[in-house]
Amino acid sequence: MKNILITGGAGFIGSHVVRRFVKKSPNYRIVNLDKLTYAGNLANLADVEECANYTFVRGDICDAQTLSGVLRKFEIDAVIHLAAESHVDRSITDPLAFARTNVMGTLTLLEAVREYWNGDWERKLFYHVSTDEVYGALDMAETPFTEDSKYDPHSPYSASKASSDHFVRAFHDTYALPTIITNCSNNYGPYQFPEKLIPLFINNIRHGKPLPVYGDGGNVRDWLYVVDHARAIDIVFHRGEAGKTYNIGGCNEWRNIDLVRVLVETTDRLLGRRPGTSDHLITFVEDRAGHDLRYAIDASKIKDELGWVPSLQFEEGIELTVRWYLDNGQWLDDVMSDSVSKHL
Ligand code: NAD
Repeated sequence: MKNILITGGAGFIGSHVVRRFVKKSPNYRIVNLDKLTYAGNLANLADVEECANYTFVRGDICDAQTLSGVLRKFEIDAVIHLAAESHVDRSITDPLAFARTNVMGTLTLLEAVREYWNGDWERKLFYHVSTDEVYGALDMAETPFTEDSKYDPHSPYSASKASSDHFVRAFHDTYALPTIITNCSNNYGPYQFPEKLIPLFINNIRHGKPLPVYGDGGNVRDWLYVVDHARAIDIVFHRGEAGKTYNIGGCNEWRNIDLVRVLVETTDRLLGRRPGTSDHLITFVEDRAGHDLRYAIDASKIKDELGWVPSLQFEEGIELTVRWYLDNGQWLDDVMSDSVSKHL
């Protein structure tokens, strides 16, 4: 029996991690602690909410008392920490919210865990889920980021995640807290809040609304199907080495404009529309401030040491994703109206 606290489990990636652990490991008790911000949605976990090994607690990672209570009540042995403010555009308009949750929340969680485990590190783990954006931007000719790339965050979001990574490492180096960090590239797939590019654009194509592409659409991102990320987290959680960092990536770089064209083509086709129906929706808008040109991940360490590689080709993943959002139009409409009712 292992009691695992997963933070941010009602969000996009967290819900896939919770689902995987609850279904695959009936001998684990999974406690999902989530504040349910605009990005958190319990409907993402409707298929596991009745499972005997699953418990949901509504709570804020910035609240030390709540954290201490949860750690004690459920006798937590391991933490997988995903709770965060995650949207770069929001970090530009409200950086303090990102410092609060991503920096202070992570530090509050680290302190609560350090106090509860109290030096008994045997079979304990603090697993911190982070982003490749901490490494900054690459130009087109540079080789992808490795675990040794220097931190060079540019947005308030990536600066807050970089800071949280540093605190996690500091707790390992200072107190010997067993920690692991993974830095992953852009995820896509079901249950992503439709402010992020892929679900936003599918939803806009669905409704015939404009598709605002930043700048000339030349920025490059590496995309990974979210279920492959959840599988990587599972493998690292069980076989990764404390104190280490692993990069996770799809080896799948796309210019934004090319990705948008794939989304338009796939969505129109699956809606039974004539090819080219939604091409006119693509509009170029003023570039995002401080927009990083390119992210790319060298995921050879996790492949060589732990045997993880992405299982899905991008074409399959995109087809599955567009189909999921079109089949779950009600989910899209509900999360949009829920976030409006939360005034966000
Ligand atoms: P998300 O925004 O979809 O979900 C975040 C979840 O955290 C939500 O359920 C929200 O309610 C919860 N939350 C926010 N503030 C909280 C707080 N103070 N206390 C408790 N819960 C809180 O994010 P996501 O895309 O699923 O990302 C999850 C993690 O993975 C984040 O740490 C993010 O930095 C990291 N990550 C994301 C990506 C990506 O492409 N989405 C890539 C690499 C790493």
